[in-house]
Amino acid sequence: MNRILIAALLATAAPLSAAPLTPAQVAALRDAALKDDYAWDITEGLTTEVGPRLAGTEAEARARAWAVAKLKAMGFANVRVETFDMPVWVRGEERAEILSPFPQNLVITALGNSGATPLQGIDAEVVGFDSVEALAAAPDEAVRGKIVFVTHAMPRTMDGSGYGQFGAPRRQGPTIASRKGAAGIVIRSIGTDHHRNPHTGVMSFADGVAPIPAGALSIPDAEQLQRVLKRGKPVRMRLLLTPRNTGTHQSGNVIAEVTGRDPSLPILLVGGHLDSWDLGTGAVDDAAGLAIATAAAKRIMDAGRPLRTIRVVWFGAEEVGLFGGLDYRAKHGKEPHYAIAESDFGADRIWRVTSKLGESRKAEADALALALAPLGIVKGSTDEADGSDIGPMLADGVPGVGLSQDGTHYFDLHHTPDDTLDKVDPEALRQNVAAWTTMLAVLSGGIEEPKRPRRR
Ligand SMILES: [Zn+2]
Repeated sequence: MNRILIAALLATAAPLSAAPLTPAQVAALRDAALKDDYAWDITEGLTTEVGPRLAGTEAEARARAWAVAKLKAMGFANVRVETFDMPVWVRGEERAEILSPFPQNLVITALGNSGATPLQGIDAEVVGFDSVEALAAAPDEAVRGKIVFVTHAMPRTMDGSGYGQFGAPRRQGPTIASRKGAAGIVIRSIGTDHHRNPHTGVMSFADGVAPIPAGALSIPDAEQLQRVLKRGKPVRMRLLLTPRNTGTHQSGNVIAEVTGRDPSLPILLVGGHLDSWDLGTGAVDDAAGLAIATAAAKRIMDAGRPLRTIRVVWFGAEEVGLFGGLDYRAKHGKEPHYAIAESDFGADRIWRVTSKLGESRKAEADALALALAPLGIVKGSTDEADGSDIGPMLADGVPGVGLSQDGTHYFDLHHTPDDTLDKVDPEALRQNVAAWTTMLAVLSGGIEEPKRPRRR
């Protein structure tokens, strides 16, 4: 109560410096960010010097050390790691082949938390389904002892909305198949490309359900298997997946700040996730995302001191179950946050802004949309924001902003060996940084002694 009173008094007593930036000042910061190099520098550095960084492994620990050094070198304050423990699963060998009627190899990868086959693999008949609903409706006898195959028809969409619905074979398929006594399950990768790259991704068996081997075929291989099944002859497959659980290990969130002039005010949180899947170098998912958020915070820091503290969080262990987001919420969820935002949907251009700042801050949401419009960004809902690690806090009612990237091509790369630096377009990255810089400029509460743009 006292803190709030004092903050209110300070706010009314504070001179001009507490005023929000003018639209012209915001525009100057936005346009300067269209020449940003910080985001590329971070993305290139992390993916080159660390590479793949699976949650809870030694690689993710190296990524944290890299992150701390980088954020300190960039001049951020209060750079620190908040650690937490988590169960760790690592990939082993992975092979699939059709034994009959048309012997040939298929390209497969294990899904996160998959069970293992014996070292010699398993040989079994394949039974195919068009959806998890069809699998769920099948009698147990039709599945028992067999390798289940589930396909789907995920479409390409700008907002990524297909992922929720068409991801069901990965998320629910293994549990349903195990309950029915299947020997294993292979799914059509949850993706939209036609490259021979399988898409991994996490799933977890429901409590009390025995883990079975669970893999994703590349989309061309899944279509091949479908054609083979359509011939109507019994199809036998050999499946070898040898992942294992290595026990409990440490992960952590890396946190850095641009200290505000009034640290008692609710903070702005921006971030992305530091861990990646192990198949690619996690350039698009999510080195680019954390780089965009961090570059924007750095650009505000270069311009002067914001009224509110900006906290940058590089979340650990997102891919395997939001461990970092949940740990942050447990440790900081009760602290007041002025707004939270996360970049974790690739590196393509931002096309829409949504927010959920509350009825009393409609003017702020409108000012934000207006300032973003010159970047080709459409005003979306003011009653909606999303983000993976920040999702639980958004659900708690913490105000948030969503800067939606164009996801048309996102699921071509998502969780594949093809998620590498060459897929990041530096121009699109800069448009992202400009949008995030604009957002921070509008919500910062004003920046003290902004440096004048050199261009006149
Ligand atoms: Zn991600």
